[in-house]
Amino acid sequence: MDSIIERINQGKFWHFHGGIHPPEQKSITSGKPIKLLALPKQLILPLQQHIGFQGNLLVKVGDKVLKGQALTQQSNPMAVPVHAPTSGTITAIKKSVIAHPSGLSELCLFIDVDGKDTWKKREICQDFTKLNRQEIIKKIADAGIAGLGGAGFPTHIKVNTKPDVNFLIINAAECEPYITADDLLMREQSEAIVDGIKILDQLLTPAFILIGIEDNKPQAIKALQHATKHIEKIKVCILPTKYPSGGEKQLIKILTGTEVSSGTLPINSGIVVQNVATCFAISDAVINDIPLIRRVVTLTGNALSKPQNFWVLLGTKISFLLNQAGFVNEVNETASIRNIPQSLPPVIMGGPLMGFSILNEQVSTVKTSNCILAPSRVEMPSAFNHHSNEVECIRCGQCADVCPSQLLPQELQWSAKAKDHQQLTQLNLFDCIDCGACAYVCPSQIPLVQYYRVAKAEMRQQQQLDIKAEKAKTRFEARKLRLEQEKIARHAKHKKAAAARKATMNKKSADGGTAKSAIAAALARVKAKKAAENKSTGVPVTSSEKQNDNDLAEISPVKAAIARAKAKRLAKDKTVEAPVSTSEEIIQIQPVSNDETKRNEIDNKKARIAAAIAKAKAKKAQVNKPSIEQIEHSTETEQEQTNEKTQNITTAAEEKKVRIAAAVAKAKAKRKILDNAQQASTTNNEEST
Ligand code: SF4
Ligand code: SF4
Repeated sequence: MDSIIERINQGKFWHFHGGIHPPEQKSITSGKPIKLLALPKQLILPLQQHIGFQGNLLVKVGDKVLKGQALTQQSNPMAVPVHAPTSGTITAIKKSVIAHPSGLSELCLFIDVDGKDTWKKREICQDFTKLNRQEIIKKIADAGIAGLGGAGFPTHIKVNTKPDVNFLIINAAECEPYITADDLLMREQSEAIVDGIKILDQLLTPAFILIGIEDNKPQAIKALQHATKHIEKIKVCILPTKYPSGGEKQLIKILTGTEVSSGTLPINSGIVVQNVATCFAISDAVINDIPLIRRVVTLTGNALSKPQNFWVLLGTKISFLLNQAGFVNEVNETASIRNIPQSLPPVIMGGPLMGFSILNEQVSTVKTSNCILAPSRVEMPSAFNHHSNEVECIRCGQCADVCPSQLLPQELQWSAKAKDHQQLTQLNLFDCIDCGACAYVCPSQIPLVQYYRVAKAEMRQQQQLDIKAEKAKTRFEARKLRLEQEKIARHAKHKKAAAARKATMNKKSADGGTAKSAIAAALARVKAKKAAENKSTGVPVTSSEKQNDNDLAEISPVKAAIARAKAKRLAKDKTVEAPVSTSEEIIQIQPVSNDETKRNEIDNKKARIAAAIAKAKAKKAQVNKPSIEQIEHSTETEQEQTNEKTQNITTAAEEKKVRIAAAVAKAKAKRKILDNAQQASTTNNEEST
């Protein structure tokens, strides 16, 4: 580590592989200060402006919002909230085209600006050194800070590192042509930037802090050297200009000589890199309680009459910015002169090498937007040419010579065209930093970076699908296992219950008797129900289906009461009926000639008794009929009268049956008496003979 610092003190640095020296074109905007813009009428804020996930919405359409108010909140660690850049009203939450090479639509918040620029209540931190580590990280996370250098990685995650940090590197290289946003910020806000660096120092406690800045920014270098002159730990490292020295791995290599190998992170080598604009945002968030709602954007290119750096509110439409910078629509002017249909002029978000064309000027700036380039036809003729000039690769190898990631761009291009994702992985496509150096030098004018971007997007999509499929498979297998376990448990339970039932049934115990009697009772109930149904529907009842009084009692409480009364009456009648008692007396006192005669006499008596009982039943039924009708008439509603009629029919049928039974019994009794008398006389005759 000391040898590194020694080299740095001597102004010696390492070199990274490849790189190019394109025309800088920074002078277009570097001579003018950062300008404040008037408030736009509308802001369009994409919910996701960084690497990770969008936060959960905190507002709805129609809500009034204040400047700095959080509009979303963290839903997971990789989510970064967005805030209202000024006061106004939420007029829509819908999908809109975003500033992205894909040109896809994402969920956006539309804010109608009220022009008052009213702040939310803020708490200024007088001394950030009194804040503990977690308080600082929370402030950074709540402020929605994502890396402003272009990648947009959530800052609160990057600064929340556990391993020892040897070097904190501040990326102030700003190596891409045309862009001067960081240069101007360093010149005008060097003190705030150094405050941000101090906050990071407090969090990460690195051994050294290295600010890497290219030698084409003399004023910024002076400002930083002045702001850090009393801080021994901080070294301002002036680097030779070479594109892309601002790449994270390239800057680490230049300053420390460390190669961050493929698939590893700088933190694995004890190094953390932060962009200079991110340091300013951290200072604003922790000290001034200002979330990330604005940034410096370079509006440059010869199609602008007033190119300059501007303080731009996030969500400001590109069309508004172009108007502010005096955009001359060269395409449409030419079209109107030539009387041909007008078309969109080329507008690039980002620099000429890493930027991408914007197809819709209604897209808005996001956290990672550092430059809007509107070139003239002379300046960048290729941007106006909608037809590709691409020809076959001649295998010159120039692309590989300039590649800072030491990749094989021509092979990557072939694999990307063939959609050979396996080969692209083997060729380390994801180590490509989209610097565009290969495409810049390609004599065949192959838009190499475009191929890589498309291939990366496809592979990421495929990875997402694979992850989803894997998750779905895991869920499916877990469910299948659970269902099988439940089935086994259910079967075991049923088996156990069946065994217990069987044991109970087989056991000659009181329990068994109860169970059996319960089954018998259930069967009897079913029989009674069936008999009642047959009666009501007029189906003739067979002798085996005839129910006793108790069965009838189950049909209804009234009938049960009637049946009970019947039984009582019968019992009474039995005791008072003369012929029965007389008969019993006869059975007891009459001398018996022999056994047969006795039996006949007993049978005769029984038949007479049965006939008398049947007669009494018939009489009683006749007597009870009006009272049942009265009860039913007084208690049942009009609807129930239909039921009453049915019941009456049933009762009448019962009575009829009883009368028939009585007549049958009477006839049987008579017949029995006659038979018995005949038999007796025959026996007597035989005896006398
Ligand atoms: S620079 Fe272009 S032509 Fe040359 S090898 Fe690379 S892709 Fe092919
Ligand atoms: S765009 Fe990728 S492949 Fe091309 S030079 Fe840059 S890092 Fe290498």
